[in-house]
Amino acid sequence: MENCLMCKGDLEKGNVNHIVDLDNFIIIIKNVPAKVCKQCGEYYLEHKVALEIEKIIDNYRESAAELTSSPPIKISEAFSAKLCKHISYNF
Ligand SMILES: [Zn+2]
Repeated sequence: MENCLMCKGDLEKGNVNHIVDLDNFIIIIKNVPAKVCKQCGEYYLEHKVALEIEKIIDNYRESAAELTSSPPIKISEAFSAKLCKHISYNF
């Protein structure tokens, strides 16, 4: 059994919402398979999963650039600078 690098807790298989913070764009990829620390909640992605995520991000980088070049929509202070994209990850 592998252990957490942060706290040495046990890792178990689970699914996480992986958040990627680009300059002014946040991508939330839901349901990503990962090894999750039972103790502190830190998670670790398998190499092939990490590669898949890189591909997803590359696909969205261009559309993110388009979206953020338009004037920001003022919803509230909390959301002012960032656009958010939710993606469900089916592995
Ligand atoms: Zn931990």
